[in-house]
Amino acid sequence: MQRIIRKISSFFSKQASSSRAISYEDNLPPVILSRDEHNISRNDIDKPALDVLYGLKRAGYDAYLVGGCVRDLLLGLEPKDFDVVTNAEPEQIKAVFKRNCQLIGRRFRLAHVRFGRTVIEVATFRGQGNGQNRQDYFGRNGKKSGKAREVDDTGRLVRDNVYGTIEEDVWRRDFTVNALYYNIRDYSIVDYTGGLKDIKLGELRLIGDPETRYREDPVRMIRAIRFAAKLGFKIEKHTEKPIMELAGLFDDVSNARLFEEVLKLFHSGVAVQVFEKLRHFGLFGYLFPLTEQMLEGESEGFPRMLVIEALKSTDERIRSGKTVNPSFLFSAMLWESMQQRKKVHLADGLAPQDAFHAAANDVIDQQIKRTAIPKRFTAQMRDIWNLQHRLPKRHGSKAQKLQEHPRFRAAYDFLGIRVAAGETDLKELFDWWTEYQEKDLVDQVAFANKLGREEKKPRRRRNRNFYRKRSQSGSGDAGSSAG
Ligand code: ATP
Ligand code: MG
Repeated sequence: MQRIIRKISSFFSKQASSSRAISYEDNLPPVILSRDEHNISRNDIDKPALDVLYGLKRAGYDAYLVGGCVRDLLLGLEPKDFDVVTNAEPEQIKAVFKRNCQLIGRRFRLAHVRFGRTVIEVATFRGQGNGQNRQDYFGRNGKKSGKAREVDDTGRLVRDNVYGTIEEDVWRRDFTVNALYYNIRDYSIVDYTGGLKDIKLGELRLIGDPETRYREDPVRMIRAIRFAAKLGFKIEKHTEKPIMELAGLFDDVSNARLFEEVLKLFHSGVAVQVFEKLRHFGLFGYLFPLTEQMLEGESEGFPRMLVIEALKSTDERIRSGKTVNPSFLFSAMLWESMQQRKKVHLADGLAPQDAFHAAANDVIDQQIKRTAIPKRFTAQMRDIWNLQHRLPKRHGSKAQKLQEHPRFRAAYDFLGIRVAAGETDLKELFDWWTEYQEKDLVDQVAFANKLGREEKKPRRRRNRNFYRKRSQSGSGDAGSSAG
């Protein structure tokens, strides 16, 4: 969650009061707030971002902060990152920052300027693609090739490397509140689209015709939801209207990009609100089809509570500055589907561990069609799930071994959200692990041994029954809770 760093000043009064959306065709001059008319101080801007801005300025170029950082600073929030935009073209940016600068991206060519561990993204103003601009497109090898701006049959913008001026660049941005520019030359704020007014109204308004803009890039629909939740803004009615109808456009967005977007959505510190809004607009099912199926089956039951508890825990971690891991989120989203699939495999006669592996494969294979989950995270998801099965078996030296597992902490947290979501029979187990972790090593050994003595007899009896039943029926234990 963002920290509020300053009270908002009274800069809003300068804005016109008309509620009509301003467009490129209006050809209006921008509203410019001079330094003494707004609250953004250079002290609020990270040093590497200032270095990039001044570096470009010294080299004779125009340079601005743009996007979320200007929006957040005006709202008195701490920006997540600082994006710079300039009239210098990528090769010229490279010439200014030399070895500190790397040019990236084909669809949208950008410069990354590195200062220590910080990378500042520097984009060149994008133009309208009306033939008056440089149409060159640089391929990966640096040679010119292909078209600079390309829209496919469905209206999707597949490439945008037509360079232009600030007057053109503003109209290519998504929301008016994301199209505010902070000019390093005189520290003023430049607003062409009515973004200052919309900050005052607390509204998210897409620049241009909403349907066209969503068709160009369907991800703008989920960006609307993310910003609405994060800023507590209302989605303006024309911006909101097409969302439900156009949800199907996600089918054309690459699974790699959707994975990145899902992380931004659910690691925003407002994941619970994001989840509710995604479901309200019918978008959630496009990102997590299996989870949506579970939720539809039981609207207020355990599947929903598990997701909510996982998101609440993620939000709390972000708010207190802790790290968050994508595998935890995905484990929670897919847990119920995995359990259901496991039951089917058990009914088909697979042994419990085989049924678990087959079920995990099934749900992960389905999910990565929508959001490509990198292998390291799917491996962690399998661990978190598998450890649910192992956490009850903690007597004697097993507890220590489990605690040393690299995914122990995530698995323990996962057990916690299962309890919070209603699996109260696991509460005793969860409390035991909580107490175990609070002890020092010597006490831990005694604590686990004590349990070993108490548990051994009933366990053996249970095991004998288990094997007897198994040899009678020839099938496995269909009742094992997790794993
Ligand atoms: P955050 O706080 O998440 O960083 P942001 O608004 O800075 O929010 P970024 O993804 O960092 O979002 O993008 C920076 C800016 O680039 C945006 O503010 C917007 O002006 C522009 N932008 C990003 N994605 C799109 C898009 N899909 N379509 C149009 N403009 C976009
Ligand atoms: Mg940003």
